[in-house]
Amino acid sequence: MYDVLRNVGHVVHKALKYALDLVEPGAPILEICEKVESYIRANGAKPAFPLNIGINDVSAHYTAKVGDSLTIPKSGVVKIDVGAHLDGYVVDAAVTKALGSAFVSMVKAAKSALEAAINAVKPGVRAWQVGAVVENTVKSFGFNPIYNLTGHKIDRYVLHAGHVVPNYPDKSASQQFSPGDLYAIEPFVTNGGGYVVDGRDVTIFRLVKTRYKPLQDVIDVVKAEVGTLPFTPRWFPQLDASAFNAAVRAGVFYGYSVLIEKSGGFVAQFEDTVYVTEDGGVSLANTLELT
Ligand code: MN
Ligand code: MN
Repeated sequence: MYDVLRNVGHVVHKALKYALDLVEPGAPILEICEKVESYIRANGAKPAFPLNIGINDVSAHYTAKVGDSLTIPKSGVVKIDVGAHLDGYVVDAAVTKALGSAFVSMVKAAKSALEAAINAVKPGVRAWQVGAVVENTVKSFGFNPIYNLTGHKIDRYVLHAGHVVPNYPDKSASQQFSPGDLYAIEPFVTNGGGYVVDGRDVTIFRLVKTRYKPLQDVIDVVKAEVGTLPFTPRWFPQLDASAFNAAVRAGVFYGYSVLIEKSGGFVAQFEDTVYVTEDGGVSLANTLELT
């Protein structure tokens, strides 16, 4: 399992590096998403979720829609969040590219917070203690963390496995790290108030009801390709929109709203997936070496 995770982490690292090259002002995000997802497949892994590209106050859960005309802006912050898996062993990691010197310190704050957080992971340490490290680091740069976004435990084929790693000392995250645990740690940093709300767009879905007779053929197509991992309609051109929408209405597919910073603040994110050993956390995507 550890060897598989190392391999997946290497693919995620390379995919992030490739994506960073593609993210330039004017670049179409549809093209970036398709290229990076293809790159993951060409390197022997599968996307664990659609490539997320979050521009400025768009914090998470945005991937290119079918026919999307959105392009990378001239200035701002662009978050690139990549997930890949092999046999359900998932690595989830993200970087932020600053477009313009005004955003360099925000990106640096997110990166520093991730570094401090990874260093704080040890068996016996509680998740909220890592949250304290994240918040302190972010505040030392003069920014706020996003209080209602968290890192998360990862299980096989389960991206969000219950336990969270908060971005502030939220004492309810009292679980201790243990050797063999897999956690995505993802500090989000903003020059806004630090809360995300649901936006109107929904571009990412997940299969939550695997049996529903009237739409079983639709379910089976999705299940065969991605199981219950997140996906986007872009991946299933063979499904017609009316069947897809019916499946959403029937609660077969759960839709994730795009998350927007409530006060309109810009948001930076760094993320890595950490494998917990007796000696501490091992970074699987080596995100910190990318920028
Ligand atoms: Mn992620
Ligand atoms: Mn994550």
